[in-house]
Amino acid sequence: MKITDISVGVVEAPLITPFKTALRTVDCIRNIVIYIHTDTGLIGVGEAAPTAVITGETNASITHAITDYIKPAIIGMDIEEFAGIMERLENCIYKNTSAKAAVDMALYDLFAKRYETPLYKLLGGYSNKLITDLTISVNDVEEMVKDSLAAVERGFNILKVKVGKDPVGDVERVVAIRDAVGPNVILRVDANQGWTPKQAVRIIGALEDANTNIELVEQPVHYSDIEGMRYVTANTLTNILADESVFSPKEAITVIEKRAADLINIKLMKTGGIYQAQKIVHIAEANGVECMIGCMLETKISVSAAAHFAASQKNITMVDLDGPLLCMNDPVTGGPAFNGQVITMSGEPGIGFSL
Ligand code: MG
Repeated sequence: MKITDISVGVVEAPLITPFKTALRTVDCIRNIVIYIHTDTGLIGVGEAAPTAVITGETNASITHAITDYIKPAIIGMDIEEFAGIMERLENCIYKNTSAKAAVDMALYDLFAKRYETPLYKLLGGYSNKLITDLTISVNDVEEMVKDSLAAVERGFNILKVKVGKDPVGDVERVVAIRDAVGPNVILRVDANQGWTPKQAVRIIGALEDANTNIELVEQPVHYSDIEGMRYVTANTLTNILADESVFSPKEAITVIEKRAADLINIKLMKTGGIYQAQKIVHIAEANGVECMIGCMLETKISVSAAAHFAASQKNITMVDLDGPLLCMNDPVTGGPAFNGQVITMSGEPGIGFSL
């Protein structure tokens, strides 16, 4: 099955409510969608999210990387030379991880279709069901409490609370949410690099003293401050999850060796796709470090690829794949079913979309 062409377009999905973190506010997803065509007529699909503040990529840079660097590197190759294609994908351009992720997932889609099996089964088939959390955007306390209660009402029992924009009010935000939702909802807190190491230790300590029972705190400090994150991890009892600090397998090794975090959040847009993400999961597993699978602002296309990957792995124990739940509608049909907090894998070959 030879690769004959890669076509690139834009996929749009308005959000139900604006998405706000310490880094940005977004009200409509505008991502890149790609199609890999083959001489058999089978087509693989992928998506890249332009998260300029995190990966440094824009829709223009993603399009350019795919058309001018990735496409010439892999065109004409046979899907069955999979590791060889992945080697060229990794080496044809430095970084550009979201562009690579879109191509990687479309290649996996084709590879699994070639063997007429659902992708998650080809990758390991650990489970066919995932439970995702739902993100609560950073806002003032009343609005975050209202959003949290609405999420619980919708059946979510794991919430990911965004903070970090206003360190002074962050303890109050989380305490108010815990009081409102009661003890049985799992709360994850994501500071998106918004605190200094000392602020983080103080805030997390205050959350511990207030018995908020937080499952984990994600990326408390700047992504480049590995030493600072190590300080936070060493000086708090709550598990610390590295997100923006870990893109590559090499960075995962650094964070694990330095004990800079207790857990690692894997996103295909950071790793450059499933091929590299697998390495991180296995490095982490060998070191007794559990992983979360996360997503950027992505539609059902790429989040479904991440769901297949997560379902295939034993060491992905936390799921933050709420992208499709934030969108007013899905740009594709078929694939895993996103039903409230439950994601159920389907039996269709590849990622499973009807094209
Ligand atoms: Mg995060």
